[in-house]
Parts: sequence; structure tokens; C-alpha cells
Amino acid sequence: MSPASEDRPFRVLKFGGTSVTGLPKVEVLAGVVAERARTHRPVVVVSAFSGVTDALGRALEVAALGGDWAPLVEELHGRHERAVDELVAPDDALHAVVTERFEEVGRLLQGVALVREWTPRVRDAVLSTGETLSARILAAALGERGVPARPVPPGAWLPTDGAFGSAEPDLAATAETLSEALPSFDGVPVVPGFIGASREGETTTLGRGGSDLSAAVLGVCLPGDRVEIWTDVDGVLTADPRIVGEAETLARMSFDELLELAHWGAKVVHPAAARLLRARGVPLEIRNTADPNALGTGVDAQSGTGEEHPVRALASRSHATLLHLDAPGVEDPAALTARALEALRQHRIEVIMMTQGSSEAAVCVLVPDSARDAARRALDEAFHLERLTGRVDAVRAEEGCTVVTVVGDGMRRRVGISGRVFGVLGHHGVNVRAIAQGASERNISVVVTGEQGPLAVRAIHQAFFAPRPRAAEVWVAGVGRVGETLLDQLAERAEHQRLRVVGIGRSRVALLAPDGVDLTAWRDAVEAADDPPELLVEAAVSSAHHPRIFVDCTASSEVPRHYRRLLESGVSVVAANKVGFAGPVEDWRGLRESARVGASAYYETTVGAGLPVLRTVADLVDTGDRV
Ligand code: ADP
Ligand code: ASP
Ligand code: MG
Repeated sequence: MSPASEDRPFRVLKFGGTSVTGLPKVEVLAGVVAERARTHRPVVVVSAFSGVTDALGRALEVAALGGDWAPLVEELHGRHERAVDELVAPDDALHAVVTERFEEVGRLLQGVALVREWTPRVRDAVLSTGETLSARILAAALGERGVPARPVPPGAWLPTDGAFGSAEPDLAATAETLSEALPSFDGVPVVPGFIGASREGETTTLGRGGSDLSAAVLGVCLPGDRVEIWTDVDGVLTADPRIVGEAETLARMSFDELLELAHWGAKVVHPAAARLLRARGVPLEIRNTADPNALGTGVDAQSGTGEEHPVRALASRSHATLLHLDAPGVEDPAALTARALEALRQHRIEVIMMTQGSSEAAVCVLVPDSARDAARRALDEAFHLERLTGRVDAVRAEEGCTVVTVVGDGMRRRVGISGRVFGVLGHHGVNVRAIAQGASERNISVVVTGEQGPLAVRAIHQAFFAPRPRAAEVWVAGVGRVGETLLDQLAERAEHQRLRVVGIGRSRVALLAPDGVDLTAWRDAVEAADDPPELLVEAAVSSAHHPRIFVDCTASSEVPRHYRRLLESGVSVVAANKVGFAGPVEDWRGLRESARVGASAYYETTVGAGLPVLRTVADLVDTGDRV
């Protein structure tokens, strides 16, 4: 490095698993690092190649169960050999490093297989293989692309408290190590993320997703202006893109918002990394290796929002268990809550959220499904005596729940946000199992069943991020005389309608067109349709849109069987079909009950060929007349 380069600020650049995997991504990585090197002194932090840490963890579990772990290790070994060939010119020394490392992994797993269990220390030694090797290979790959770089030995720059599996970085020791190591360091350092070392030099990982934390630690210990995290999305999006396809990238957000999102399940950045950067006032940039020119998301201390966007993003976290602890015989609800939380804390069980408050002592806590049994045991133990005397009921557990959270700094200044959230969920027939609003007023969280989780996320996203005037989505079942006439009428008046026909069904096929059927040519479209007819109802039930209307123009006895489900999912039903309303009066009452906020059942046309007989009679009765 030229002397002038000593004056440049450091810039920590972290590349996640998908961003270091495959030749095209590595070319991008090299380009980004070369570009930063012109103005900064880059320090690169890398994750393992995509999927490697998971695979190492699986091999460990298989070994502990006495299974055949060798093929898993062979596969990983082969993958790394191929990565060397793909990313670096023929390099015997590097191949030898890879082989040696997998031989070591083999020895460790053999030991695990013998004793049928692993210790946290062995697990860290195995899991750290991914980053150890990716750093070696990527440093060589950078050199090959004109960016002189050197791998940092695993853990060397990340002294920790020595707790295997979730080590806490020692910031003071890190700063000291860096000030000793950097002056003589030649080339761009490539640091294996996720890996630290105890005082005794033993490998201690920082916990899953911990490469972000490695980058944050280096970012706050080196004089630099920001940390960049390169990943596989454009930045922080308004929702998890795997659930909401149309989620949009946020140009800016506050650390508070990012932390709230991370806590509630948006795993784009590790929460410990965000917390550390916030505490030290080091801004963060999240960028996409698949689109390096996109600006990404900038995160800093400033509140990320203007008044017009009180809700910035949604997060969701599935696989959670809701535990109910009812204590009809306990007089002090606060003491019950305190003891329950203390019991969970002592067993190091993560409490995602907690709600309390009723005329009787009762607490409801949300924990990860994986902690369900341990949490139950902890509570049963803590209230053992009260259980014996019947003052505390047995703990009830609802597993497989999803908690959906809306997050935004601006929410506290706005009324009506929660009203809107609950309204949307009601319209879609989503049953809310528990609710929490954080003390920061930066989040509103609702617990729903895992099955309804994605629908809840999509529906709330629609409501807050697609606020155009909303045409109703319409599904029409049956294209006989009535259905045909209806569709023609809708076609004639298409421009004036706030209705969009998105599905048409007849006895053997259905036409589904989420963007709307061209009503001027609906007959041809139905002719060419080939979706199975039952998808018509399914599409209406699962759409995240509001409002939705299902029109039954058939005379079938099959379609009315679905009315209740439609209504319970928030879809209004309009029927020209008598069958659904002409049966036992209980069925009719059931239907009326199923119609919730926003969903209604209309059936005027079932009597007198559409003459307004039913409404007239109902009005007469309502106003005291006898018919
Ligand atoms: P890396 O391997 O680069 O560390 P991660 O898989 O840990 O990447 O984190 C990025 C992923 O986080 C994205 O691919 C995306 O699926 C997920 N994610 C969840 N919620 C969000 C969100 N609100 N914005 C962006 N990404 C999100
Ligand atoms: N490779 C580690 C993991 O998958 C660390 C990381 O990628 O951040 O958890
Ligand atoms: Mg990650």
C-alpha cells in the first residue's frame, strides 16, 4: 500500500453466503472491493459459501445419531475443491488446505459418532469450517483479479468471551489486536466472519448469522465512516420478499426500525450487529450483489420516516408457540407474570412477546416452537405447588403460530394504525390469537395461526403499501343465462365499474386472471380456460385483496357448500342460486353468522327473478308490520 493509503478511512464490507458463491458473484465482489480501494482501506468480511454452515450442522447431527456422515462431508469437500478451480487458477497449495481441513472435520465427526454426542466446542470447530475456507479461497480470488488480498486467520481479529456457540466479542481486545496487526498487514484483509477466538485461542462462533456481527465489531473498532453489508436483496424491503412479491426497497431507515424488524423476524441483518452499530453511531448500508448499482438501504440514527409513511415495513416470524398460563386462584397478577418470566429467563428461553391483563391472573407468552417443551417444563416447575392445589391451571400451548408485526417510527404520532391493521385482518377472516404494542410504540404485533400467517402479511402489506382506490375483485361462478347477462352488463359498463372480474367458472373449468379478465372477450377466454373449477373458490379465499365478491349464478348444490368458508374468509357472497338459502333455517342462520365485518351475503335475486321482494318484506317486518 502506498503511504497515502494510510490516511484513508477504513471501510468494512461484508459479503453474505449467496454473495460469495459462484463466479459471477465473486466478480462483483472483486469489482466492489477494487472500487472502494481507490478511496478507502477496505476490510472484507466473508460468510461461508451458501448453505455450507447448514450442511456442516446436519453432518454433526447425523454423526451424533450414529448415521453415515461421510457422504455429507465428501460432498462439501468436493464443493470447495470445485470452488478453488472455478475462482482461482490451478493452486495446489489451496487444494491442500481444503483437503486438510476436511480431514480434520472427518476426525472430529468420527469422535462425535463414537460418543454419540457433540460438545459446543466441537460444534464450533466443525461449523467454522465454512468461513475458514471461504476466506482463504476468496482472498486468492481477489489477488487473481488484481486486488492484492490476504486471509486473516480464523478468530485472530475477533477476541471473545469464550462462550462456545454464541460468543460475545470483546471490543477492547479487538481494538488492541487491530492496532497491533494492521500496520504490518499487507493487502486487503479478508476476515472469516462468524468466527472468534477465546483468550486461550479456541475457536468460538458468534451464533448463526454472526458474520454481520463480525463486520459490525470491525466497523466500530476501526476509524471508518460506515459498514456495508452485501446480500441477495436490494436492501431492507417493506416485507419479506419471499412472502410479498411486490415488496419495495426502503431507501432509508433508522436503526430503531431495523432492530424492531430484526427482533420480529426480518432476518436481513443480525440484530446484534444493528444494536452495536447503533450504540456506536456507525451508519450501515445494505446492498445487493445481484444488482450492485442499486442504491440499497441506508440505516442511521435518524428516524427514517416522514409523516406520510407511519408504517415502514412488516416482519413476520413463524414456528412460534403461544403458552397460556391461567391462575384463577392467584390474587396478584403482577407476581404471576414476574415469576413466569423469571422462570423462563433462568432456563434461557427466548420470550418473543408477552401479554398480560384480564380480570383474573393470566399470562400469555410467545416462545419459539423449538423452546416449547422446555418452556412448559420451566413453567410447570415454577408453579408446581400452585398446580397441586389447583390455584394454577395446566399450561396450554398453541404451537405453529406466526407473529406478524408492523413497524414504523412514525406510528406513535398517528392514530388509527392499529384500527386499520385489525380491520384488514377482520376483512380477511384472520383470527387474532394475541396482540402486543411495544412500549416504543414503534411496533404492533399480532399472533395468528401459522396457516394464516402469509395471508395476514400480504393483506396488511396491501392495505398500507398499495393505497390506490380499490376496485373489488369479483369471481363469477356459472355462465348460464344469468351469469352471461351479468358479465355482458359488466363489460358494457366496464369503465364505470369499481369491479374487476378476476375469475369465471363453469361446471368443468375455471378461468383465473389475477390482473382482470378482458370482459370484451370473456367468452373466448372462458373457452380457452383450463384451470380446475374448484380453484375458483380457492382463489377468492386466498386473495389478499379487499373487497372481494363471489357471485354464484349456478343452480348447483355444490357451490353453496362453500359459502360459509367464503364469508369467513371475508369474501362477500352474492347468490342468484336458491339452493344455499332454501335449506334448513339453521343453515341460513349459520351463513348470517359467518358474514363478518366487510363480508355480506346478498340473495335478492333468488326470489321473484330479482324483483326486490325479500328486502321489501324484511323492511316491513323490521318497521313493525306483519306480513
Ligand atoms: P446473507 O446470507 O447475505 O447474510 P440472509 O439470508 O441472512 O443473507 O438475509 C437476507 C434475506 O433476508 C433475504 O434474502 C430475504 O429473504 C430475507 N428478508 C426477510 N425480511 C426481509 C426484509 N424486510 N427486507 C429484506 N430482506 C428480508
Ligand atoms: N455462515 C454462518 C451462518 O450461516 C454465519 C453467517 O452467514 O452470517 O450462520
Ligand atoms: Mg445473514
